Amino acid sequence: MASGSPLPLQAEPPAPPGPAARRPLTIDDFDIGRPLGKGRFGSVYLARLKDSHFIVALKVIFKSQVEKEGMEHQLRREVEIQAHLQHPNILRLYNYFHDARRVYLILEYAPRGELYKELLRSHTLDEQRTATIMEELADALAYCHAQKVIHRDIKPENLLLGFRGEVKIGDFGWSVHTQSLRRKTMCGTVDYVPPEMIHRNTYDEKVDLWCLGVLCYELLVGSPPFESTSHNETYRRILQVDVQFPRSMPEGARDLIARLLRFQPEERLPLSQILAHPWVKARSRR
Ligand code: AMP
Repeated sequence: MASGSPLPLQAEPPAPPGPAARRPLTIDDFDIGRPLGKGRFGSVYLARLKDSHFIVALKVIFKSQVEKEGMEHQLRREVEIQAHLQHPNILRLYNYFHDARRVYLILEYAPRGELYKELLRSHTLDEQRTATIMEELADALAYCHAQKVIHRDIKPENLLLGFRGEVKIGDFGWSVHTQSLRRKTMCGTVDYVPPEMIHRNTYDEKVDLWCLGVLCYELLVGSPPFESTSHNETYRRILQVDVQFPRSMPEGARDLIARLLRFQPEERLPLSQILAHPWVKARSRR
């Protein structure tokens, strides 16, 4: 930062990609701060735009690494999808640029880090916090589904936390944008895999409802409902919808989870009814 330069009254986010951008951004447009974390393909740094002082998270991805794993298509898809989504509970992807060796994603900075780490520290979340997160996610996913985007990979590792602790869906690496909302690939993490994805049948946006049920359980109990010592055993329990509710589970939360963890996708509680669910309405502080 040039010393003595006046602080702008209001920091502005970087212009989105497309004609609004004055010129392509480069790494020289940023002051780089501390590392925020390391991912599969590179690192994420706290950064600030030199001209507006706008704070962002800059994700630096090595092209060689992406190419080695044949993930170019997935990265491009993640970027295209996330850049078009604007919702308070979805991490913004403001813009991106690249040089010979790296791709840079300019992301909204999530000051309170990963939900996963909060869960590690506190083991479980209380009813208020869990219900608030369920409302935030149901609202964000309703927005995604309306745009024909299925997330497919909702889990604590992919959820970041904003300044007030609000949740931000942060990883669209596995999400899929489809006209028909139907896909046949196998993906996701074992504990959160819905039954229809084990069978590799076609599936639709209702996979996200299943994941919300798994997440709600994990946040309240501290471990996911079908957790087992082997993947095969986890799959078996998922296919039988073998959920054990601890006695400490609040009745309203049990009701919500039971309505989401249904083998038949069409029987799962729709997002609009999660928002209207009595336990969510009574406990959420959103
Ligand atoms: P990723 O490559 O997306 O897995 O990111 C690696 C790590 O960087 C994550 O585990 C987070 O701790 C951190 N991180 C990524 N994106 C952000 C962000 N927008 N704001 C704050 N921390 C982030």
